[in-house]
Amino acid sequence: MPLVPMRLVLDHAAANNYGVAALNVNNMEQIQAIMEAARETDSPVIIQASRGARSYAQENYLRHLMIAASELYPEIPVVMHQDHGNCPSTCYSAIRNGFTSVMMDGSLLEDAKSPAPYDYNVKVTREVVQVAHALNVSVEGEVGCLGTVGQHKEEAPKAASTVPHDLDLEQEPEPEMAHLTDPDEAESFVKETQVDALAVAIGTSHGAYKFTAQPTGEVLKMALIEEIHRRLPNTHLVMHGSSSVPQDLQDIINKNGGKIKQTWGVPVEEIQRGIKHGVRKINVDTDNRLAMTAAIREVFMKSPDKFDPRDYLKPAREAMKKICLARMVQFGQAGNASKMRAAKLF
Ligand SMILES: [Zn+2]
Repeated sequence: MPLVPMRLVLDHAAANNYGVAALNVNNMEQIQAIMEAARETDSPVIIQASRGARSYAQENYLRHLMIAASELYPEIPVVMHQDHGNCPSTCYSAIRNGFTSVMMDGSLLEDAKSPAPYDYNVKVTREVVQVAHALNVSVEGEVGCLGTVGQHKEEAPKAASTVPHDLDLEQEPEPEMAHLTDPDEAESFVKETQVDALAVAIGTSHGAYKFTAQPTGEVLKMALIEEIHRRLPNTHLVMHGSSSVPQDLQDIINKNGGKIKQTWGVPVEEIQRGIKHGVRKINVDTDNRLAMTAAIREVFMKSPDKFDPRDYLKPAREAMKKICLARMVQFGQAGNASKMRAAKLF
């Protein structure tokens, strides 16, 4: 049974000191890219879909694509995760559709925009944990809100801005204050909800426009991760908004008619530092979006005579696979699918 609960993969990651990329999907090519990278690197994988992705792909298509992945790659343990569930019913419909893990993001109200009171967060998350655990489904919660860190002008490089969860890149980011995770709150939240994984706000934001200059460990508040991990050594920490936004992809896009403003992401070395301190799930979406778009723009620019969708979707899929493959190696999940199989974990 290759679709497995997230807890299984993250427990193995914790026991063996590695991190796992959680990669967003909307369509078949993206799932194929991830699965091919997983096979080549022998990696367990977390595939995640936002509410937007579920509505774009439609539940039945998505469910059958995931079943296809598990049939075609029986050697790979695959987690199917709901990214940023905005209320319990979103999580329950994901579970009904075969997801093996859900995020109940009660750090925001149901509108997925307004910061929620702590008590509300505990209430909705605890409810989802009780239902999900009874069905062998894992739960991720969040304490604190992702967004801007640099509130003082001189504190450059500062985070660029924040956007509502479950965003679309076409939307202009709305400036909003971040609310970094408070370690005391994190500790009591995990105790009260029993979540399997906890998303922490340490200065990253969603989307491509994260930082206005190369961020340092100080800007990213990596010390906060270390502190939370010290207090919660058995909770799997999650870094959201952790694309690295590679310069070469920005350049390819802009050289081929695109207009991406210069931006910086989260350096892979900082993520690797996080992995040493309890980070087990790392959300990466923007890098794959950039890779696919760069590949498609290149085809359109170099071969304007092409019109078969395969002529540009194949290179796009290949470009995304390359990013996935690189992250799987960098985060240390490579080589662990066979170890999990040997340990008869799935
Ligand atoms: Zn997120």
